[in-house]
Amino acid sequence: QTEIDWIGKRAQLFSNDRAIIDADTDESWTYFEINERAEQLAAILVDHQVNKGDRVALLAPNHVSYLDFLFACMKIGAIFVPLNWRLSTDELQYVVNDSGPTFIAVHQLFSEEHEWLEPSMIIKTNDYINSNHLNDIPLSVVDISEKDPLAMVYTGGTTGKPKGAVLSHQSIFWNAINTIVSWNLTKEDCTLTTIPMFHTGGLNALTTPILLAGGTVVLRSTFDPEEAVEELINYRCTTVLFIPTMYHMIVQTEMFKQADFPDMKVFLSGGAPCPLTVYEAFKNKGLKFKEGYGLTEAGPNNFYIDPDEALLHQGSVGRAMLFNEIKIVDEDGAEVDVNVNGELWLKGKHLFECYWNNEEETRNAFIQDWFLTGDLARRDAAGYVYIAGRKKEMIISGGENIYPLEIEHWLQSHEQVNEVAVVGLPHDKWGEVVAAFVSLCDGHMTEEVLVKYCEQKLSRYKIPKKFYMVDELPKTHVGKIDKNALVKEYSNI
Ligand code: ATP
Repeated sequence: QTEIDWIGKRAQLFSNDRAIIDADTDESWTYFEINERAEQLAAILVDHQVNKGDRVALLAPNHVSYLDFLFACMKIGAIFVPLNWRLSTDELQYVVNDSGPTFIAVHQLFSEEHEWLEPSMIIKTNDYINSNHLNDIPLSVVDISEKDPLAMVYTGGTTGKPKGAVLSHQSIFWNAINTIVSWNLTKEDCTLTTIPMFHTGGLNALTTPILLAGGTVVLRSTFDPEEAVEELINYRCTTVLFIPTMYHMIVQTEMFKQADFPDMKVFLSGGAPCPLTVYEAFKNKGLKFKEGYGLTEAGPNNFYIDPDEALLHQGSVGRAMLFNEIKIVDEDGAEVDVNVNGELWLKGKHLFECYWNNEEETRNAFIQDWFLTGDLARRDAAGYVYIAGRKKEMIISGGENIYPLEIEHWLQSHEQVNEVAVVGLPHDKWGEVVAAFVSLCDGHMTEEVLVKYCEQKLSRYKIPKKFYMVDELPKTHVGKIDKNALVKEYSNI
């Protein structure tokens, strides 16, 4: 079937084209070599009694082994589980117990720290699979269907414990097809992947789509804003995804201010709301920039907008991608009117199959074939969608619905504001009150100045009742602002 072992087919078609470059070491592999590595690794896995449906975990920095393991699992029907190395030992133990891997590979960088994992393989060098296994162990022929699981990617854990989203062969394939068709990706395209590959953004936003298209993926294990700009230029990247926090750092570098990125077709942002100031910095340089919206459970890619049109629909993530249906509904599941916020539901072959070991969450996440994202959005008359934030984060104060994202966007546009998070804190009279946590670029600012600034744009009931000036906002291990931590810490104040 089309969705299974597409790397083998790609290798036949583009065998000598460069698939992967490791920017840490400057090594690179062609499609033929990447496929051969996957075949060899698949044989090693079979040798270790890994069968169809077994989990194969990897703990590594961004590295070619992510692709080796993904494609090896694709060939033998095993389930690839990339592990988040930023987790604490307790959290990692939870994910390992939850996923129950038969085979665990650990990069030597982490092997001492996590000896308790008792890895089946320690990845020391890039030629770790040079073992001539192919001659010894025939690859068993397994019957794999497109709905069988291929990878289990844990969600960001922003709202609770990370959940294992089971992605089938079909989900990864159709997310890639949607992305290729939307962005017109070809074998001439090249991306830089510095965002973590244990996360859906690093693995599936551009990496797998570019590989299905026959292009080149440059892998980098660390992020530095100046270096990232330099690499985008040196490797002649045509597209890239960073999370907003990274863009926020990039646009402040001298290197960015001077660069003109002649090869870049579009810069993509995703994973969290992007401050309009970042968007403006790209617009001012005449560069194409698109805010993406995605989830581990759905692709992650769901929307497309021509970057030129994005300028006319500022703040919109675009319209549904080709093989993705959307609807926006009220509490009763009825579609809301144009320009009214409701919950965003998605449908398509790119959706995940289920949450691992969690039938109840899976049941709650679907109504028939529709996936309930838990995010709020509205659609304008032309069909452009605007994300309004997480349903759980909507603030109800004195009976009014308040969307933190709208307030955050406005406060962020103040030139002295570095980062901002708006949350609802419990209140006896109002139920919840709006509180804003603000870190400044430099200097000092009073609450009165910010209140006055809000009055220029926001209705009275949306203006935060309390501003907290903080040095830095707490972040989750995927770099998103940790609002739960703020609510926990400040609820009793
Ligand atoms: P968990 O599901 O474990 O609580 P998480 O929701 O952060 O964690 P991810 O799959 O990493 O898990 O992130 C998806 C979420 O990120 C979306 O549901 C949405 O709330 C948020 N998000 C992604 N892109 C955007 C965007 N452009 N604007 C606003 N929010 C976004």
